[in-house]
Amino acid sequence: MPTRPPTPEGLPQYLAEGVPKQDDTDLRALQDWIDDLLEYRQDVAAEDIDAGEGESIEAVEESSGGTVVIKKVSCGKDNCKCQSGELHGPYKYVVRRQGDGLDWDYKGPVSE
Ligand SMILES: [Zn+2]
Repeated sequence: MPTRPPTPEGLPQYLAEGVPKQDDTDLRALQDWIDDLLEYRQDVAAEDIDAGEGESIEAVEESSGGTVVIKKVSCGKDNCKCQSGELHGPYKYVVRRQGDGLDWDYKGPVSE
């Protein structure tokens, strides 16, 4: 007899218990919905990107897998050169949607 596929590691209990209870129609709808959600998360438009206080957006490039943002930042330290406008960076980030907000994944410095 075939065994049920193992639950993905780290999956919250409410999903591990709830998903297998759905019928075929709902499971397929769920599968499509998950695909759409994943696509939506990676689809962050340039106008959704806001510079924080003391930050300067240098470039925004929409790509598959997330939106690439190059920005310069302030470290927030009182005596630092960035307080007079000489910002740190530029640094590269990949921005994706997370919940209601944006997740900025730091990818390291880029040369100007
Ligand atoms: Zn600084």
